[in-house]
Amino acid sequence: MDTLKTLPKIDLHCHLDGSLSREFIESKLGRTVLENELTAPHDCSSLSEYLTKFDLPVSCILTKENLKEAVLDVIRRVKDENITYIEIRFAPNLSKNESLDYKDIYEAVIEGSKEGQSKYGVMSNIIICAMRHHSEKQNLDMLKAGRDYLGYGICALDLAGDEAGFPNENFAYLFDAANRLEMPFTIHSGECGRSKNIKIAVEAGAKRIGHGICLFDDKELMQYCRDRQIGFELCPTSNYQTKAVKPGTKYPLRSFIDYGIKATVNTDNTTVSNTTMSREYELITSKLNIAKDELVLLYKNSIELSFANDDIKNILSKTVSAYEK
Ligand SMILES: [Zn+2]
Repeated sequence: MDTLKTLPKIDLHCHLDGSLSREFIESKLGRTVLENELTAPHDCSSLSEYLTKFDLPVSCILTKENLKEAVLDVIRRVKDENITYIEIRFAPNLSKNESLDYKDIYEAVIEGSKEGQSKYGVMSNIIICAMRHHSEKQNLDMLKAGRDYLGYGICALDLAGDEAGFPNENFAYLFDAANRLEMPFTIHSGECGRSKNIKIAVEAGAKRIGHGICLFDDKELMQYCRDRQIGFELCPTSNYQTKAVKPGTKYPLRSFIDYGIKATVNTDNTTVSNTTMSREYELITSKLNIAKDELVLLYKNSIELSFANDDIKNILSKTVSAYEK
């Protein structure tokens, strides 16, 4: 575990609200919070139940100061386990209110990200999430306002929320706008939904897929994604909790690697899933027999698939040698 902790790691799929520390939430609420208010149980019944754990942390990120501090809080917590780079995602429309506009929101999270680097030495970027249950106008306004910051702290767009209730075919308007604005995107797809959602996302131009557990239901699609070098953001602990992977069944990371799919391993929500990147590494090495030379492959995939600029990618490439010691 200690060696895993010291290896450089990258988290490409980390939600801000689901990864806030208990101390942060308690300080904002001004009261003690119980473990089960923050963390989803291992025997969580579904993705919908899992998603109920987000209301409380979202209520703590409704001001400029709190948003900035929230990003710093997440970065502070990952610095000790040698996270070299993290892409933190959040849904701006969940924080927007009468006294907080998009400009305030984006400037706050970017400030947090920059301060995280100067204070804790962890490089980061922000992914902005459209929400499946939000209106077309809300999602497009958020995207257009966020586009101004692309390359200045914001690196991509995501689509999150209830995938089964709001399938990807409903979001052609969003993918078209992202393409028109030249905004790269990753889409939560094939988590607890259908492989068809992955196909729609990739055809629409997604460079990465959030989770994509259903990929192996469709042989043609597997080849399609492999040929296009599409990245898959796997989150083992979370995928068991939401029942994306059925209890007692083997996690499909080995199949992704053996088939030549570009897989990465991530946390999803360090607080809601009560995990860290080191714990995810521990899980895949002990339970899935992932060897050290495969960890380096996962790390290299994360560098390649990140939405970071070339300067950051060059710095990250130099850290790969830590795996060869
Ligand atoms: Zn997610």
